[in-house]
Amino acid sequence: MATIFSRIVAGEIPCYKVAENDEFFAFLDINPVAMGHTLVIPKQEIDYIFDIDDALLGRMMAFAKRVAKAQEAVIPCKRVGVAVMGLEVPHAHIHLIPIQKESDMYFGGKKLTLTQEEFADVAAKIAAAF
Ligand code: 5GP
Repeated sequence: MATIFSRIVAGEIPCYKVAENDEFFAFLDINPVAMGHTLVIPKQEIDYIFDIDDALLGRMMAFAKRVAKAQEAVIPCKRVGVAVMGLEVPHAHIHLIPIQKESDMYFGGKKLTLTQEEFADVAAKIAAAF
């Protein structure tokens, strides 16, 4: 059965898309820990990030870097933090989180509540800067 993220790539489940190429897809996390919190995934279904072969993983990180540069361009932040957990969705994904301070990377706390317009607006801004 396709993962929820593959269904997003296929357009079966809506998302706020940020960027895409033939191998990777980037979209806003639906429960953001910070404004612009984005997930980067390979289109190929691979559960664990460290099972991805070296060449594809290198290209995935280069794609994530481009997304991070776009985030930096449009979201006030000191850095874009990077996290990988994958405990919830069995489809490898890199969290890219614009941060001002270390605690902005805290996943155990209250998530941001954004309107559809706010999600769409930040996704469009990152996409335009990509
Ligand atoms: P992890 O697997 O890294 O522990 O967490 C999965 C992440 O994917 C969470 O931050 C969660 O909010 C996000 N997520 C789970 N389901 C969906 C979904 O259907 N759409 C989007 N945009 N994000 C999701």
